[in-house]
Amino acid sequence: MIQVGVNGYGTIGKRVADAVAAQPDMALTGVAKTRPNYEAEAAVRKGYPLYAAIPERADLFHDAGIDLAGEVEDMVMTADVIVDTTPSGVGADNRELYERYDTPAILQGGEDADVADVSFNARSNYDLARDDDVDTARVVSCNTTGLSRLLTPLIESYGVEKSRVTLVRRGGDPGQTSRGPINDILPDPATIPSHHGPDVNTIIPDVDIDTLGVKVPATLMHLHSVNVTLDEAPSADEVRDLLSAESRLFLVPEETGIDGTGKLKEFAMDTGRPRGDLWENCIWEHSVSMEGRDLYLFQSIHQESDVIPENIDAIRALLDWEDRETSMATTDETLGVGLESLFDGQRKRVVPKSNGDD
Ligand code: NAD
Repeated sequence: MIQVGVNGYGTIGKRVADAVAAQPDMALTGVAKTRPNYEAEAAVRKGYPLYAAIPERADLFHDAGIDLAGEVEDMVMTADVIVDTTPSGVGADNRELYERYDTPAILQGGEDADVADVSFNARSNYDLARDDDVDTARVVSCNTTGLSRLLTPLIESYGVEKSRVTLVRRGGDPGQTSRGPINDILPDPATIPSHHGPDVNTIIPDVDIDTLGVKVPATLMHLHSVNVTLDEAPSADEVRDLLSAESRLFLVPEETGIDGTGKLKEFAMDTGRPRGDLWENCIWEHSVSMEGRDLYLFQSIHQESDVIPENIDAIRALLDWEDRETSMATTDETLGVGLESLFDGQRKRVVPKSNGDD
């Protein structure tokens, strides 16, 4: 069993911890928290050993009646690998701690690319992280993950001449009361390209991609407006078939009556997804169109969860534990990734089309 410690127990960390606990070949060493808030209480209720991320604050946990398993250094010493899910920039500061104990570490997309030996997306470059010289990997951001998953099969099957993507980004996560905008639409950044295109190049170095960013008053998901000029000119149906064969791409059928991110999240909750998570890119099936060699589509990305399966695969890749296919299949099966399979052979009759507000 791989012993996994999770440092930083917020939006991403709590999901990674649950996903680790669900793996047949992993055990959760524990999670490190800075303060004894509601998330610490929830971790304790789940039976996760809790470590003080900031030793000087250990007394706060004792005062709150929460037992600690130790301090973060104890967790780093014990674990075979650390998944660092602290806020942007803190992961870079933590690297020295992981190096001190020679513990391989996975960092997140909020960090600069040079924080780790490799940037990681399972579908695109799993094997890079298996190299003996690689001790740290950065799982790229939710948006970069979504774009890498989409572009890789297109490159493999048709070749990509040029990609242009406008990312309509949620202002904050549902729990982030301090974020915005509340009533505005921001070019963000107003300069072009946004950081997403260069970030995709940390995963797929040769792909030509321009990205533009917009921020809107929403919390549920991001929406990407995608235009890819392919080297070949497949039909839209051929592209749909290609994409729907990927376990982490879900083509949202028009017949379901799901017309936006609100209903997508509702669908996730109705189908029993933990926290209403959507680990897959949600590609609007009827948006997939070809004009000559130009592919157009919309896809929605659940920012809180699409990187979770990637973190699990990054653990196996970094420790050279399994090959890509085996790891991705195990991760997908244990978490239940693959909404597409719900619609196999029955895309026309799963959910009747909505008649309006009923
Ligand atoms: P978050 O703020 O929800 O969670 C971070 C947690 O780390 C908090 O509980 C915070 O108290 C804790 N923390 C702060 N300093 C710490 C320290 N020194 N040691 C240990 N814990 C500490 O943040 P998040 O949204 O989970 O983001 C974490 C990382 O994942 C960032 O790099 C972010 O860019 C990336 N990411 C976030 C999203 C998203 O949409 N939320 C998506 C993909 C990637």
